[in-house]
Amino acid sequence: MWFNGVKGIPRCFQLQADEMIVTEGCTHGLNTAIAKSGAKTVQITIDDAPGKSNSHMIALLAKYQIKTMFFVEGEFVKARKDDVRALVRNGHKLGLHTWNHPHLTKLSDDQIKDQFIRTDRLVKELTNTSMAPNWRPPYGNSDARVERVVSSIGFTKKWLWDVDSLDWKHKGNSKAIIDDVENGLAKCRKTRCIVLFHDHEATIRALELLLPRLMAQGLTLADFP
Ligand SMILES: [Zn+2]
Repeated sequence: MWFNGVKGIPRCFQLQADEMIVTEGCTHGLNTAIAKSGAKTVQITIDDAPGKSNSHMIALLAKYQIKTMFFVEGEFVKARKDDVRALVRNGHKLGLHTWNHPHLTKLSDDQIKDQFIRTDRLVKELTNTSMAPNWRPPYGNSDARVERVVSSIGFTKKWLWDVDSLDWKHKGNSKAIIDDVENGLAKCRKTRCIVLFHDHEATIRALELLLPRLMAQGLTLADFP
């Protein structure tokens, strides 16, 4: 039996003939309601977006009614403008992940600002909204100077992660991705654990197996705060 794992919350997902069925009447707000109930929640985040399979990722998250944050790269935004608009249209949030994924600690102050301003300007052109204050450093690599520089242009909220799916390393090996996430979540002592994924086709295949497993384990897939 597949369920959301929290007493008093209606079951929203059922597996029927290998197809995940969403119960009628279950809405986007359900995930938030469960999150507030105190159960351990999982916060999915997707880096290096929009990837070539972004539309498939959007469809998968819609199936599970998850709204999350996609950390976008300027080069990918430029190449896949329609996907960026679709992300926003589907209720996802965008965070800044630089123009072309450098190690920010190796750049000058001006180069860091350029990475942020160019990317945010392009996203604003497409969506009418700045991504500030949300950002995530490539490789998780930043320091006090980088943080001071990006704060000075409004990027004051740095997002790291609690669990790394290592999907970039495991590529098509769904089992390895699932094992790393489940082991990482077992060790995560927070009530809300942020998991890092990337916007790749192989990750989508792993998530298709992983998301119902997590729900069956009583974990809640939380919307982005
Ligand atoms: Zn990245």
